[in-house]
This record gives sequence, structure tokens and C-alpha cells, in this order.
Amino acid sequence: MSENTKVVENATCTFCGCVCDDMNLTVDLDAHKIIKAQNACVLGRAWFTEHVAEKRPFALIDGKEASTEEGIEAAAQILANAKFPITYGLSDTTCEAQRQAVAITDMIGGNLDTTTSVCHGPSGIAFQGTGESTASLGEIKNRADLIVFWGGNPAESHPRLFTRYALMPKGLRIPNGKKDRYAVLVDVRRTPSAPVADKFIQVKPGTDFEVLWALRALVKGRRVDPKLEEKTGVKIADLEDLAQRMKSCRFGALLFGMGLTMTRGRHFNSGALLALASDLNEFTHFVAKPVRGHGNVTGADNVVSWQTGFPFGINFGRGYPRFNPGEFTTVDLLSRGEADAALIIASDPASNFPKPAVEHLKSIPVIVLDTKESVTTRIAKVAFATATYGINVPGTVYRMDDVAIALRPALESPYPSDEEVLTAIKNRVRELLAASGRAGNPAAQKVA
Ligand code: SF4
Repeated sequence: MSENTKVVENATCTFCGCVCDDMNLTVDLDAHKIIKAQNACVLGRAWFTEHVAEKRPFALIDGKEASTEEGIEAAAQILANAKFPITYGLSDTTCEAQRQAVAITDMIGGNLDTTTSVCHGPSGIAFQGTGESTASLGEIKNRADLIVFWGGNPAESHPRLFTRYALMPKGLRIPNGKKDRYAVLVDVRRTPSAPVADKFIQVKPGTDFEVLWALRALVKGRRVDPKLEEKTGVKIADLEDLAQRMKSCRFGALLFGMGLTMTRGRHFNSGALLALASDLNEFTHFVAKPVRGHGNVTGADNVVSWQTGFPFGINFGRGYPRFNPGEFTTVDLLSRGEADAALIIASDPASNFPKPAVEHLKSIPVIVLDTKESVTTRIAKVAFATATYGINVPGTVYRMDDVAIALRPALESPYPSDEEVLTAIKNRVRELLAASGRAGNPAAQKVA
């Protein structure tokens, strides 16, 4: 370690939706590297200390090295001339960049979707139907004496959800931390999170909805069919005990993950859990929050919602936003062979989408902005190398509880930010549309 170091205090980790903003980063200025990330969990430590800017060309067009400016021109030409362009990704970049992506898509009458459609999209649908009894993670830390984790494994996916926010920390009304809380974990298998809970309830795969509906009945004092035990694998006595604890706690929180939202039942599962939280407010204070994965997926929901009225799966083809998951969600749309150009921001759909969707993606011009090489950058017509948010780039992100947090970058990058590239593409698309007599969506131009 050189003596030429600096410390960036209260930096923000964007590796997962916890968005911990108490990182103290030690930077080796000679090596241009973060060498210590105090307060980070094992995942956050790796995110910061293993960050090495890949030496890549600023842009690749058809696999050939190009400048960022040449990439912008090529990308703008593709988007301005496409009949059915799509924008996808957005959960690992700043709100400022997300805003530009929405403006571009609106201007060209394209389709806008984020990774929410493949994680908590069902919750987004359920919120609209059922509503949300919500709280910040700070309120949960300070007040919650009963926490129910449903369909997730925070010990491995969000380590500081336990230690900083929801289980161990001492709070205003929880002076003894974990000792003052009762924690329940509901999941289809015993994960490393199970030993941390006071009670583990194992449900048979695909039966979360039935268990949640039975809890709703028990909370309301109704009887439950004993056959439920065989179907779900959960003892009625355990559910009666949980229902009683839920009704008698001072402040309860249901924190739910993709084990609930992306299994059989999907938005019905999320809706049942949200309805259970609402029911419980007849007896005590109860909230429900989705546990979000990507660092700024919550920001994507917020930015897209405040600009279009909907969180994901939106189409501007008629000049105004229409929301229709299943029709306008990217996996479905690509699998049907629709879209003639794609703008992908900070995401790698070619590595994890179903085969028909990837095959179609390979057949259309793809523009990608990413901090690293990926399967999608390798199939792209235009691939931009961009700087990493939170490490190189300032801006705003939203924690999973919808609290906005400012980023404090520690290292400079030779590469532009996603926001800079997208703003330049937007300006050039606007010029091209005007020159061709297609002014684009006038409302979008005003917002942009
Ligand atoms: S819990 Fe998530 S945001 Fe917090 S330090 Fe770990 S990886 Fe980073």
C-alpha cells in the first residue's frame, strides 16, 4: 500500500438494494484502486475492492473500435429510424441516466421496460390492485418487533438487511436489538438465513398463496381446512401461532423476495401478502416491503413511474404511455419476435433471457451501455464502455424502501457516465427526427 491515500467517508454501495450509505472507502491514489471498504459486507467489499476499470475501447461499432462520438451517431441513427425500438435494463445506473432513457424512448415512440419485469414486476402489479402499507427501513429498524421474511435468503443476497436494518440493530423502541424482536422466515427450503430466525416455516413449492390466504383467514378469526397441512406442508398450529403473533405485535414487517413473486401465483402471491398486511392494520401497525436486488431498481421504478405513470412494461407507440405486462414486457415481446432495435442500459439480457428472446435480440441492431464486457455487448451493433455508478459517477439512487440517496464516487474514470452518453444520444435523435420531418412525441421533447 502506498502512503498516497485518501478516505471517502459515507460513500454508498450500489451492489444490492440495501444501498448502504455508510461506507468509508480508502483509496490508493497511486494504484488508482479502492483498498479498503469499512462497514461493507462481504459482497460490498468485493464490489469496491475488486473494481478494476476494464481497458476497453470507448465504443465498438460492429465489433470495430470507435470513439464515443461515433458510437452516439450510430446509436442515434438506429433509434431514429426504427419502427419498434425497445429500451431495457436501467436498474444498475443513476436516476439521472434513467431519466434520459425514458425521454429517448418517449421521443421515438418506443417500448420501455426495466429488470423489474423479471423480479418484482408481480409486486408492481399487486401494488396497483391492493395498495401498500409501507415504511422506511429506518422505521423498521427503530420500531419493528416482529419481522417476517418471506421467499428470500438475505443472509446471502442482502447481508446487511439483517445487521443494519431489520434484525440485529438496536432502535428507538427496540433498545436490545435482536433480543426485542421475533423473526420468522418462510421459504421452500432451509437456507443460511434460517438459523437467524426464531421460527422457520417451510412451505411446499408453489403453495405460498394458500398459506397466505390461510393466514388472512386466521387473522380474521376464521377456521382453516385441515387438508391445508398436506397441501402446503405447514402445520395449522404454526400458522395459528404466527397469526396470533402478528396481531399482538406492536409493529410488524413483512419483507418479501423473489421466492414469492416469481413462483406459481406471482402477482396473486404478492397481492395476498399485501392484503394480509392491510388486514393486520385492524389490530396493530403492519407494513410490507419487497426486498429489491439491483442497486437502483427502486430508482428505475420511481423514475419511470413519475415520468409515465407506470413502473415498467410501457409502450409509447401511440404517443402516450400504455402499461401492459405480458404485452410490453421485454421477455414476452422479444420471444414473440417483435422489436426492430434495442437500447440496453446496464443489463445483460442475452445471458439470462429465454432462448427465443435471445435469438430475436441477436437478429436486430442492439445498442448497449455497460461498464464491462458481457454476452450482450458481444452481440451488440454499438457497445459503449461507461463508468461505474457509485464508484466513478455521482448521482441519485433509491434504496429498496424508496429513500433517495446521493452517491459519493471515489475514483475517476476515463469513460463517460451512462447519463452523458444517453443525453448525447437523445439530443442527436431529436435532431434526426426534426430533419426527417418526424418531430417525435412533442410532450417528450418538452420534458427532455
Ligand atoms: S448489504 Fe448490499 S448495499 Fe450493503 S454493503 Fe452489502 S452489498 Fe453493499
